[in-house]
Parts: sequence; structure tokens; C-alpha cells
Amino acid sequence: MGDSLRDRLLAELQSIRTVDCHSHTTSSKGYYEAAPIDVFRLMTYFERDFQGTLGMSSNEAYVDCQSDADKWQVLKGVLERTRNVSYWRHNIVTYQALFGLEDGELTDANWSAVNEAIKQHSADPAWYGAVTHEIADIETQMLNVPWFQDWEPEYFTAILRMEPALDLHNPETRALLEGRLNREFGSLWQLKEGLAELVSSYKTRGSRGIKLAHAYSRTLHSEDVPEDVATAVFARALAGQPLSGEEIKQLQDHIIFFLARIAGEMDLVFDIHTGVQSNWGTIPESDPLHLIPLLQANKGTRFSLYHAGYPYSREIGMLGKHYPNVWLNMAWTYVVTMEGTRQSLNEWIDLVPGYRILGFGSDVGWPEMVYSHLIMARSCIADVLALKVERDFISEECAFDLCHKMMRDNAMELYSVEPRG
Ligand SMILES: [Zn+2]
Repeated sequence: MGDSLRDRLLAELQSIRTVDCHSHTTSSKGYYEAAPIDVFRLMTYFERDFQGTLGMSSNEAYVDCQSDADKWQVLKGVLERTRNVSYWRHNIVTYQALFGLEDGELTDANWSAVNEAIKQHSADPAWYGAVTHEIADIETQMLNVPWFQDWEPEYFTAILRMEPALDLHNPETRALLEGRLNREFGSLWQLKEGLAELVSSYKTRGSRGIKLAHAYSRTLHSEDVPEDVATAVFARALAGQPLSGEEIKQLQDHIIFFLARIAGEMDLVFDIHTGVQSNWGTIPESDPLHLIPLLQANKGTRFSLYHAGYPYSREIGMLGKHYPNVWLNMAWTYVVTMEGTRQSLNEWIDLVPGYRILGFGSDVGWPEMVYSHLIMARSCIADVLALKVERDFISEECAFDLCHKMMRDNAMELYSVEPRG
């Protein structure tokens, strides 16, 4: 490495024990139950481009394959048409950083060696911990924890995923929560008491926040629906009457506002997915500007808004500017688009106070791909900060300080993380 400003910034970023601000990483237990994994399973979001290209999942596409060599022929055919996307480059960075790939692409000549290296490493009982703690040097990962599930505290800090709370008009979802809490929900008031008890029980066990990813299935827009309106809708659900789409949204909106209020009261962060969806998603529903009524009504609640709201990254930058209760969480962004992320960050550094930018969230399932995502993140951040110093009158001191804020300090403070020692 040279001694250009960019190189020095990159070295600084590499020296920082990073907090991963949004994680779906499989537990070490789950990892070794799945091991040994191979080049065909060590995938994350490229699966979505794979599906978009072939119109079927990789599992379906590989179903008639007799051998790894057969699977490689299928993957190779997909790569011929798709290898430019960031989702695939994330894989290439993984193979290069951890599995001995020296070329720029996976080819007939090298895929098998990469495949064998993945199988061999993933069967090693020390590998998972080494990748996470020694190679990636992750402090903790803010883990998306579904209702009633557990986590491994040596690797993770819990964020409780709350979408089932938006489905409590559905008798099955309601019965599940009633059973776990040993309560009955005879009214909206009792339902909200139950939700508060659930969130509080996770907080007692170390959870630092709640999360909604409703932008995958409905608009982020919600209104402060009055108690009596929501109570009447819920009473109709309890009576077994069918609810209209509008009624379901009213009930959901009321619950979303309730969750934002109790998050503030319990000193928990409210994480919300914005932007980027899956194939065939209704993109405008994910626009973070839809959150304005919620943000305005809950000034005492700290919101961590994910994914740069991409493609609404300029809009979310203005939320970061005007709403002191908004943290911009760069989870997922670098593997979605490195250039889009650089442009977003470049603008945000002019707009948003540095203590409210969270520079890294892996958002992937495998620890190896957490590390390669981190490599891509450090590279983009070094690019942007070097340019800010060279062109935009930011001091070197401020740029180096931002490295620490974005990769560690802001998250340690926002999520009250204890150092792992
Ligand atoms: Zn996620």
C-alpha cells in the first residue's frame, strides 16, 4: 500500500474494530449444521439476479445436476450475462480475500479450486470465529432477530423484528403471541400491552432495538390513526369479520405509531428498512419521505433508517439533515451499488452531522460475506473521504475522525454496545 491520502484512510479504516449495524448472519451453530458449504451455496444477493435471469431459484436450476461440475455449467451460463453487477462482485471479493482466487473472474480453470477451498475452510471448527473476530475484526453485529428466536451474544446484539405485530388481525398470528405471553387479547388495549411486554422482555435480555421491514409488502406511509378508530377495527377482527385493505392499514399504522412511541420510552432504537427491495417490488412504496409523519410525531425516538433509502438516497440525506432523530444506516448499500453509495455518502457528508451516519451494515447470511462486504465498504469510504479532503475543504483530521465515527463510535453510542474485550 502506498502513502496517498486514500491509502492512509484505507489503512485507518482497516485498523478499526467495526460495529456491523445490520446483520442476518447465520449463527455459528447454524453454520456448522450447514457445513461444509460450497461455492454454489456461498451466495447472498446475487441469488436475486440469478432468479431474475433464469426465472427460477438456484436450487431449482441445479436440481438435475449430478455433480459440482454440472452446477458450474449452470452458474457459468448465468454469469456470462450478469457478472457486471455489484451483487456478483461481492462474491468475487469473497473468493479473492478468503479462498485463494487470484484472477478477476471465476472461470473453468479456477472455480473448482475455489469450491474446494470453501468446503475445506467451512468444515474447520475455528473458521467461523476466525473470520468474524480476527479477520473482519467485528465488534458485534446488530442481528435481525425474529420473534421468539435466540442469538449468540459472543457474535451478536439483538434487534427484534416486528412485522408480525402488523399481522395481529390474523387469528393465527394473534394466537401465537397469546400463547407465548400466556395472555388473551380481548381488546386493542390488551394487544398493545402484550406487544410492550414482548419488546420489554427482549430488552431485558439485551436487545437494543426493534425493526420493521414493512416496505417489502406495503407503503412506508403511515398516519397517526386515532385509538377509537383502531379499536373499532380490531374489534371487527376479533369478531371474525373480514377487514378491508384500508382497515388493515389503519390498524397497522396505529401499531407502527405505538411501536415508535414505546421504542422511545424504552430507549430502544427503531430500525426501519427503506429503499431497495426484491425483484418485482413496488419501488415508490419504499421512499423514506413517507416516514415523515412518524418521525415528526416521535421526536424522542431514535430511528436508524436503512439502505440509504436507495434510490431515494438524496431524499434520505435531507431527512438526516432536518430530523435530529434520524441516523442514516448504510446497511447493504455497498453490495447494491458501490458507485451509488459513494455518491450518496459524498453528499451526506456535506449535509448530515457525522455522529448520525452509520457506515457499515453487512445484511448477509454468511460470515465470509460480511468480511467481503466490509472490504467493499472500506474501499468506498476511503475513495469518498480522500475526495472530500482534496476538493471540498474537509480537513484530514475531520476525515480520519469520520472513519472512526462511521465504522464504530456512532454505533457504539446509538446502540449502547459494550466492547467485547
Ligand atoms: Zn436486512
